This record gives sequence, structure tokens and C-alpha cells, in this order.
Amino acid sequence: MTEAGQTATGGGIDQNRQAVMHCPYCAEETLFPIEGGGWECRSCRRAFSVKFLGLTDPGRHRGEQ
Ligand SMILES: [Zn+2]
Repeated sequence: MTEAGQTATGGGIDQNRQAVMHCPYCAEETLFPIEGGGWECRSCRRAFSVKFLGLTDPGRHRGEQ
């Protein structure tokens, strides 16, 4: 994991430090953070959160190409 994507977008969103760029439902970019964690899409009116599940093993896909 790199720190390259770390930006100072203000505090309060420690849970998901990376900003979501596109709505996973309608793919619009009209996402705004919700108080308490999560995002709301103002195009499709959906609210959602992104959950970090853990790190994947980079060697897992080796040889699958
Ligand atoms: Zn949407």
C-alpha cells in the first residue's frame, strides 16, 4: 500500500481515507460524503459506504494471465 493517494480533504473521514470517484450504481461523479461515514450520490439518490475488507495477496494471481 502506498501513501501516494493521500490528500488533505479534511478530517472526519478516517474510516475511508480514499475518496470514491464514481458512484458504483450509476457511475456518476456527483458523490458527497455523508456525516458519519459513507457517500451519497446526488444523481441516483443512493447512499452507500465502502468497506475495507483487507489486503489481497499480490502473488495470488501470478500465472493466471
Ligand atoms: Zn449514483
